[in-house]
Amino acid sequence: MKTVSRKEAKERGLLRYFTGVPCKRGHICERSFLNGCLECCKQRSTSHEWQKANRKKANITAAKWRNKNKDIANARFREWRKHNRNKAIQACKNWYQLNKDHASSYSKKWRKENAGKVANQISKRRAAVLHRTPSWLTNEDWKIIELFYECCPKTCVVDHIIPLQGENISGLHVPQNLQWLTEQQNAVKSNKYSL
Ligand SMILES: [Zn+2]
Repeated sequence: MKTVSRKEAKERGLLRYFTGVPCKRGHICERSFLNGCLECCKQRSTSHEWQKANRKKANITAAKWRNKNKDIANARFREWRKHNRNKAIQACKNWYQLNKDHASSYSKKWRKENAGKVANQISKRRAAVLHRTPSWLTNEDWKIIELFYECCPKTCVVDHIIPLQGENISGLHVPQNLQWLTEQQNAVKSNKYSL
């Protein structure tokens, strides 16, 4: 086989080339311009497959255990989440990115099965809006608020920058406190506001 240096391969736009020089693991074979030694590449992908298959097995065992020990598992998870807020949020975000379809059907299902909780949330929210709407709002302000809801993009929801029912602080239902967030951003934000 004719030998080609990496530099030459680059110049000629070759995706595969053969240098005749062993790779750092000693394979003398073709190299892919993007992924390097093909033999190394093959080994990497099989070990990756192996890891994936075994992770699956480990996940199934863990899920079975969780199913049998729901209370312990939930308590442990809650405890973990308390001490690892940022990690938990990141994990949620990652999961959501990978499972967008599943996530939206899950949340639909959850809302259906927990209609009481949802209704409660909505009425709490309505009361909060009423309670947190100052009497000094002008007609102009009301119009802007209305527009904010009317013009909200379909993929977004209207959010109170400082939550109306925040943990440490309560915002007002005024134009200056409104913003548009995607549903995902909103879910991650919850009713937290960092000062
Ligand atoms: Zn190699």
